[in-house]
Amino acid sequence: MMEQKRSKFIGSLIGTAIGDSLGARFEGAPVIRDVNDIGPRYTDDTAMMIGVAESLIDRKGFDYWHMAERFVQNYEREPWRRYGSGPPRIFRMMQSGRMGFGMLDRDLYPGGSFGNGGAMRVGPVGLLYYDDPGSIREIAYHTAGITHSHELALDGAAVQACAVALAVLADPGDIKSKEFLGALRMFTKPGPYQEKLKLIIKLLDENPSIKEIVNVLGNGIEALRSVPAAIYSFLSTPDFESAVLYAVSLGGDTDTIGAMTGAISGACYGVEGIPAQWRGKVENRQYIEGLAMNLWEVKENMNVAR
Ligand SMILES: [Mg+2]
Repeated sequence: MMEQKRSKFIGSLIGTAIGDSLGARFEGAPVIRDVNDIGPRYTDDTAMMIGVAESLIDRKGFDYWHMAERFVQNYEREPWRRYGSGPPRIFRMMQSGRMGFGMLDRDLYPGGSFGNGGAMRVGPVGLLYYDDPGSIREIAYHTAGITHSHELALDGAAVQACAVALAVLADPGDIKSKEFLGALRMFTKPGPYQEKLKLIIKLLDENPSIKEIVNVLGNGIEALRSVPAAIYSFLSTPDFESAVLYAVSLGGDTDTIGAMTGAISGACYGVEGIPAQWRGKVENRQYIEGLAMNLWEVKENMNVAR
């Protein structure tokens, strides 16, 4: 049982990097030509997910300023990871001494950013608190809010983290989609995300075209138009490979939707469920898998302390 959970932690982190690399390779491409050929590099999604995991491990839980500083350090070391336009500007504000509990993005976007930058990196929060919904919500909000403080970005991160947690708890041989969505809806605040989750229940019965999915759930850079697409990609497919390929085939923000789908699907199927040819090719595999094992150790120690 414990071994299976550990494998799910590794699957989720490496799954993020695979979905991101595959999506980065196929961003803007009309069709996927060779599924074995994932991109040579992951992008900001995985880089920032790594920052979240590193900080949770170093601090054995959530520490706002430590995580914010880690984001800045990792960006400075690898600014070429195809970051969006917002976060680097927020990092520069932080470097010039501005702090503000995650409201810095309001200088750039009135009301805060509602992009998917909070949700794309939140997987490790769902893993570390997979049995603690209250902490998932609170810590997902704070983790996202460092750069994305709009309610739709915060809620998107919480829903994505909860999906990862439910995937940890799911039996990979027998995923009950209706129960999964039921639990996720119970967790989700009334509002647009609940509406999307309701639509997913309907769509799963209908076997709709990709065009319809894009119309109804979206494939964009907004959290509300990408988190539901990742959840649908996971639930409408039987394994890791088909989930991530489906996510990327939706087009649009392929690296992020790929990364989020990889985080959920990897947390469900575990590292053994990931095709060896992808796992062998993904950048910094050993480092990322090591992070997952360290995160698992933090989780085990938390359980002992409790
Ligand atoms: Mg990206």
